[in-house]
Amino acid sequence: MDEQLSKQEQRRLEYVAAERTRSRKQFVRRFMKWALIIVLAVGVVGYFIWFVANQPVPAEADIISRNGMHWHPHLRIAIKGKEEVIPPGIGLGAVHDPMHTHDPDGIIHLEYGQGMRVTKDDTRLGRFFEIWGKQFTKECIFDSCTGGEGTMKMMVNGKENTEFEHYAMQDNDKIEIIYE
Ligand SMILES: [Zn+2]
Ligand SMILES: [Zn+2]
Repeated sequence: MDEQLSKQEQRRLEYVAAERTRSRKQFVRRFMKWALIIVLAVGVVGYFIWFVANQPVPAEADIISRNGMHWHPHLRIAIKGKEEVIPPGIGLGAVHDPMHTHDPDGIIHLEYGQGMRVTKDDTRLGRFFEIWGKQFTKECIFDSCTGGEGTMKMMVNGKENTEFEHYAMQDNDKIEIIYE
């Protein structure tokens, strides 16, 4: 025989059942939230470890100095027989780049302070043009490109050089970029 429940008892049972469902849903939501936080945290930490582990370590051969240096290569740019002035103050903004110019004399200063590690990339000629904000590749100097009205040529200490923007400058170099 079926047990007859009073209206009041029935409502109470319904209420208890609803409460149970609600707290179960709340538990699942909380669990999901924490699971998500943990997954994200693990992801961030994992990415950080991966990032640090993948930082390029300069090869021994690419390290020029471990204790700074002060070099003065000289740069000359001639386009169609016209000497281009290399302005003073390149690289000397709010933040001083170790690669900079002081005077309009074509001297590039490579001033790396004591204790600074200097790699070949820090002396790359192309880097100077990146700081300057001008185009320089094996094809082009400024807006003058091979195939247009002339041809690019680079000389280092009187000898033709085909490294162009990849050339790692040396102290007292005489670098000439000629377009004619
Ligand atoms: Zn300086
Ligand atoms: Zn200097």
